[in-house]
Amino acid sequence: TRTPFIAGNWKMNLDHLQAIAFVQKLAWSLQDAKHDFDAVEVAVFPPFTDLRSVQTLVSADKLPLAYGAQDVSAQDSGAFTGEISGAFLSQLDCRYVIIGHSERRTLHNESDELVRSKTAAALKHGVTPVICVGETAEDLEKHGSSAVPVSQLRAALEGVSADADIVVAYEPVWAIGSGQAATPEQAEQVAAALRAVLSESLGDDAAARTRILYGGSVKSGNIAGFMREPNIDGALVGGASLDATEFSNIARFQ
Ligand code: 13P
Repeated sequence: TRTPFIAGNWKMNLDHLQAIAFVQKLAWSLQDAKHDFDAVEVAVFPPFTDLRSVQTLVSADKLPLAYGAQDVSAQDSGAFTGEISGAFLSQLDCRYVIIGHSERRTLHNESDELVRSKTAAALKHGVTPVICVGETAEDLEKHGSSAVPVSQLRAALEGVSADADIVVAYEPVWAIGSGQAATPEQAEQVAAALRAVLSESLGDDAAARTRILYGGSVKSGNIAGFMREPNIDGALVGGASLDATEFSNIARFQ
């Protein structure tokens, strides 16, 4: 019942002109492969400055691609220089927004509390949060793989209602951009623990319906193993999402 979800986090890559060319190429690749968009949802997460261009292209060509932003402000509006409101994302038809990516948590000191406020802000504006959790190599050594992601997710879900539409992404920090993905078995173990958190925080229905993605050095050569796991419903892809052919192959789980 959970539609598989393949999401491309571009991070700080591709300006708005490159984004237009890329999304066109991706759409051709997927259409060439006769991609069934109802069977596997595909989304891109460009930089903020690309979103208006992506919206225009997707709506003009009626592309069945979803898109979202990589971050959102916890505030609605006001004197918050450099911040972007969930209301703005909603106006641009963003279906999703990534929240609490490890690069935000590490490089911008985002706390569990801020991640929770941003999650609430996204939901308030009708944008589905893709809540990212994951342990560092040091956490892994000290606490094992599940403890940190479990506590990060518990914190993010405080105050979220049982009928909220959310997506969870498990991204072990040591696997991001390292070329060293977790094994499907490792990722499944944490995904199962995260599903138990969904169940405890939001109830069994929400746990059964909510998609959990794996992220960290996903490519076309290793996606199939992850997709076979019962608690992994898709992938959040960084580097490999910047190559349209490779990303469309990932969407085919090849
Ligand atoms: P890579 O796929 O480049 O490892 O990045 C994963 C990631 O951080 C996606 O959000």
